[in-house]
Amino acid sequence: MSRRRRMVVANWKMYGRLTSGLVLAREIAEKAEEARPLNFDLVLCPPATLTWAIGEALLGTPVMLGGQDCHTATHGAYTGDLSAAMFVDLGCRYIILGHSERRYGHGESSELIAQKVEAAQLAGLTTIVCVGETADELKAGETAEIIEKQLRESLPKKIKTANLVVAYEPIWAIGTGQQPEPEDVVTVHKQIRKVLGEVGETVRVLYGGSVTPSNAENILCEDEVDGVLVGSASLNADGFWAIAEKCQ
Ligand code: PEP
Repeated sequence: MSRRRRMVVANWKMYGRLTSGLVLAREIAEKAEEARPLNFDLVLCPPATLTWAIGEALLGTPVMLGGQDCHTATHGAYTGDLSAAMFVDLGCRYIILGHSERRYGHGESSELIAQKVEAAQLAGLTTIVCVGETADELKAGETAEIIEKQLRESLPKKIKTANLVVAYEPIWAIGTGQQPEPEDVVTVHKQIRKVLGEVGETVRVLYGGSVTPSNAENILCEDEVDGVLVGSASLNADGFWAIAEKCQ
């Protein structure tokens, strides 16, 4: 069992409308209430449009809220963007940054992500920073090199490691049903701790990529894995809870 408090994060991406999102959040919260006290941190990251309503619904429950991305600035003429402080206003404690769908889908560089991490931490959020290799990088045996580079470049100099969580998300495993072997996940997590230096043992390192109720145990039984970041399987309350309760 990990020495660090475990964590299960739901990334709803661009799924969920007001009614369906509220139903899903309430169903998850009900299960979490029944399991009180939770021995792990449970975080829902809905689309920003749902955050306020879901935050109200989760009041008094052990479920926490997070955002999926934010801007580097506190405010300004940035049409369509949201600042970290705005997520704080909505009741968020966490924010996912550097997800591959931002890095590759929106061309975000590690340098930009580092600026976002700094802004989010300044606003008081705990940052969940994602790193991961592509299928080609895996085939070329470049995983270690890529992870080290992404991690070093995605963290600002003024990093507050107490407010840092790292998620190892191999890109080829996201939404594909494919997964690395648990021993390969362990190798990468150890490497992440090494890159983080002396604080490496205190930072939570999550795994993400096609986690389902049937494969979660294989990953979560590893000491090195402090929890999971779940995409598709977090859109069903029973399935998501079946994953989450493995940390209980
Ligand atoms: C993700 O998007 O962070 C993710 C892990 O997705 P999935 O669980 O669907 O692979």
